[in-house]
Amino acid sequence: ISFEGKRARSVSYSRSGQDFKVSAGAEIILAAGAVGSPQILQLSGVGDARYLQSIGIRSVHNAPHVGRHLQDHYGINYIFKSKQKTLNDVFGNWPGRMMAGMEYVLRRSGPLSLSVNQLGGLVKSSASLDRPDTQIYMNPLSYQTFHKGRRKLMKPDNFSGFVLGFNSCRPKSEGTVSITSSRPGEAPSIRPNYLDHEDDRDEALAMARLIERLMATPALTGILADEPVTPLDKMDDDAVLADFRQRGGTVFHLCGTCRMGPDAASSVVDSRLRVHGVEGLRICDASAFPNITSANTNAPTMMLAHRAAGMILQDGQR
Ligand SMILES: Cc1cc2nc3c(=O)[nH]c(=O)nc-3n(C[C@H](O)[C@H](O)[C@H](O)COP(=O)(O)OP(=O)(O)OC[C@H]3O[C@@H](n4cnc5c(N)ncnc54)[C@H](O)[C@@H]3O)c2cc1C
Repeated sequence: ISFEGKRARSVSYSRSGQDFKVSAGAEIILAAGAVGSPQILQLSGVGDARYLQSIGIRSVHNAPHVGRHLQDHYGINYIFKSKQKTLNDVFGNWPGRMMAGMEYVLRRSGPLSLSVNQLGGLVKSSASLDRPDTQIYMNPLSYQTFHKGRRKLMKPDNFSGFVLGFNSCRPKSEGTVSITSSRPGEAPSIRPNYLDHEDDRDEALAMARLIERLMATPALTGILADEPVTPLDKMDDDAVLADFRQRGGTVFHLCGTCRMGPDAASSVVDSRLRVHGVEGLRICDASAFPNITSANTNAPTMMLAHRAAGMILQDGQR
């Protein structure tokens, strides 16, 4: 984004090796997501001025909160072996996959027509809480999403199994998104700082113990084929947390890196999503969330976009 003084005027981009520049008649709307939007702002000179200058970027506006306050839901799956058949028995072999594929193609039904999370809920990890603090997920399928540090296609375990998982609804830990050079093609550094806040660690333990209690109910003990893969009942709090740190992962709900707030000294956009301190620049994506929502972020992002569309029209008519 190029500026004339403090007014955003044009956007430069390249496509198929060709460079383009488009000028904005009214305003520029940035909607590159919780990683892309702060990255583009920083590359354009809107960010922590001292840091940007240190990597050779001319500062247009000192906005130290760009890229800060990154929030996400950090979750973990616990895998259980089951006496009853689960979707592992369908997707773990070619005949099963082909049958499921045919059922979907011919009837639009069967396991391929379903969400992977077939049961879930917002629950209290302790009855004394006044509102739910935990989102739980249950998949009648068990799989490892990460393998030796690299993402690979999900492959069901070779036993009948299911997954119970959770994430905290309102994590307090905050991370950062920060460019490391002035080259637009270089990925920014993303530091989520999961479990940095003590309350998040306490909640993680409460939620893991909730899963442990759920697994001790007759309904679930009745279908367990074996010891749980992660025996929570035999693990002390340190071991539960260490496991969460090692195996936990993003629920892909990144937000807050250009957060909304009334005060330019602690936020990036105002209540009409306009970037504080510059003109003609609005942000319309999950980066503008003032704080993370208590559940999934897609619908809230769409809601924000609907509100933004109204504001853009209103302001354009003034
Ligand atoms: C794997 C995965 C699973 C998810 N599952 C769920 C779910 O089940 N339920 C739910 O509610 N939410 C889910 N989410 C979260 C949800 O998708 C996001 O919260 C939502 O899409 C955020 O919208 P956004 O507009 O902020 O960003 P995005 O949807 O990420 O849109 C940003 C767009 O900007 C583009 N962009 C970025 N940088 C640049 C650049 N430099 N130049 C040009 N274009 C750029 C990107 O390609 C992208 O198209 C999931 C996310 C992921 C990644």
